[in-house]
Amino acid sequence: MSITPQPGIMDIALYVGGQSKLEGHSSPLKLSSNENPYGPSRHAVAALEGSAATLHLYPPTDHADLRAAIAEIHGLDAERIICGAGSDEVLQFLAQCYAGPGDEVIHTEHGFAMYPILARAAGATPVEVRERDRVVDTDAILAACTERTRLIYLTNPGNPTGTMIPVEAVARLADAIPDHVILVLDGAYVEFAEGYDGGAKLVESRNNVVMTRTFSKIHGLGGLRIGWGYGPREIIDVLNRVRQPFNLSNSQLAAAEAAIRDTGFTEHCRSENARLRVWLRDKLLDLGIACDESQANYVLARFADEEEAAGCDAALRAEGILVRRVGGYGFPEALRITVGDEAGCARVIDAIARFKGAA
Ligand SMILES: *Cc1c(COP(=O)(O)O)cnc(C)c1O
Repeated sequence: MSITPQPGIMDIALYVGGQSKLEGHSSPLKLSSNENPYGPSRHAVAALEGSAATLHLYPPTDHADLRAAIAEIHGLDAERIICGAGSDEVLQFLAQCYAGPGDEVIHTEHGFAMYPILARAAGATPVEVRERDRVVDTDAILAACTERTRLIYLTNPGNPTGTMIPVEAVARLADAIPDHVILVLDGAYVEFAEGYDGGAKLVESRNNVVMTRTFSKIHGLGGLRIGWGYGPREIIDVLNRVRQPFNLSNSQLAAAEAAIRDTGFTEHCRSENARLRVWLRDKLLDLGIACDESQANYVLARFADEEEAAGCDAALRAEGILVRRVGGYGFPEALRITVGDEAGCARVIDAIARFKGAA
């Protein structure tokens, strides 16, 4: 008998994040990880600093104040909220609690790289479903459901596509899937979309839908690791059983609560992003680069082929700009570009125009 990990673990390919360092550039323009170009709310920073006085004390285990703040701001039921170290942790609880050896976990073709990792870590089998022209295809998801399916991870708006399916389509999917399947709506970019609640109402009217949200994107707290989930009480009760009691620190809880209460800052980030992502897409189209309309805080720039995308990536790097190659997401010919602030957007477009010989 030798020491071996559980089945499935060695099939996991390590997650590769967006690069943050660039040789020869001390502070590159980082447009590779969908981070908030305006940083975190200053109230969140103040709350974080204030929390230093409590570092010797264990944090609360029930996250009651943060859940109450989230419930108040979003008009939700605090009893159905669970908080995690990033929404990644909530996504992990779902796989851990509901999928195991012999079970299947559905994710879509261009979905988040974490989904197959979480499925395998739970011993389950990830099942990839094709999208249609970079848009989630709910019929294809339904067709892929079997006796063994336990979870469906669906990102809406999608990453790295930026496309979104209407809430009515999500509702039809929730109604049509087999009784033993949970539909997980990963809402990392919901705040950037127009008129979409992330599926909160679907959660409240059904027993098989869970929504996850994050403080990493619009709230600019990716470095602090805070996310949350909203689901039926029975499911949240299950997830809480595997959650470590002290999974969030006093600092995380304090900063997150201040961030979500700073609705003025959130609105500023949302409206600037909405304005600049349209500008960015229009400029890409002017340069002859294909780009779908985005509902998120990034655009997917599709070049003629992989070679051109790689060439543009290299040209941007030479100018101290980092964007994301997305070959691992099924787009070798594309670059995902986070919507920066106004100066950042202008700088990346100038650099791409030079690469295209148009400037
Ligand atoms: C960024 C992102 C998340 C957020 O992850 P955190 O763990 O909350 O930082 C979740 N899902 C998708 C698709 C993302 O792009």
